[in-house]
Amino acid sequence: MLELVNLCKAFGQRVVADHLSLTVADGETLALLGPSGCGKSTLLKMIAGLERPDAGQIRLGGVDLTALAPEARQVALMFQDFALFPHLDVRDNVAFGLIERRLPRREAYARAERALAELGLAGYGARRVWTLSGGEQQRVALARALVTSPRLLLLDEPFSSLDAHLRQSLQAEFRRRLAAAHIPAILVTHDRAEAFALADRVAVLQQGKVVQCGRPQELLAAPRNAWVASFIGYHN
Ligand code: ATP
Ligand code: MG
Repeated sequence: MLELVNLCKAFGQRVVADHLSLTVADGETLALLGPSGCGKSTLLKMIAGLERPDAGQIRLGGVDLTALAPEARQVALMFQDFALFPHLDVRDNVAFGLIERRLPRREAYARAERALAELGLAGYGARRVWTLSGGEQQRVALARALVTSPRLLLLDEPFSSLDAHLRQSLQAEFRRRLAAAHIPAILVTHDRAEAFALADRVAVLQQGKVVQCGRPQELLAAPRNAWVASFIGYHN
């Protein structure tokens, strides 16, 4: 289980986490919705260890991560632009985190090939990243996120640059893989339909605060206030 306890973070005058508390259970996907600039990506970066909270705690499986280096957290973060290394081939991209963890190269490559095959990319290992389509690149990024057997998966708008058809097939893939991994996951998205379709619970953020958090049906049936209602596209 992931527990965020009273997280606070400000950049100068701009508050991006305001005593923010959330929990995500193993096997559960929490979607974060909120206006641009409200602090969604910063929250993921704090959990991954790329930004340091001003106060509060981040616990995973009961262990306090707050002071740990990013490499020690066993957290996979997949960005919107999926940030593959353009100068490496597909296999090296997927194996990168394993080699960094000093796994023997042969073993790292074998695992990378398995992860690629599971995502329908068998035989892609030697391809250059820039020869792949957007959807293929996104699947490589997902393989890279999952190959290290992370204890937590953080996804920042992972499907946003795909066409509707590809997005749907990748969302289905994502659901299957995540169900098998049985770890907590947080999905940041601007797409309300995606949040409601993929997440077990949805948290709506405004200026670093959780305005409402609940199952999709709960939010749709009883938005806490008019702003939440209009933000999630609720029509009475
Ligand atoms: P979007 O939906 O547009 O991606 P977001 O909710 O992910 O928005 P964040 O990226 O978390 O927003 O940024 C929240 C605010 O904090 C923004 O105003 C951003 O400019 C600011 N910010 C983020 N990182 C830093 C930083 N390292 N230094 C200064 N300001 C920052
Ligand atoms: Mg963002």
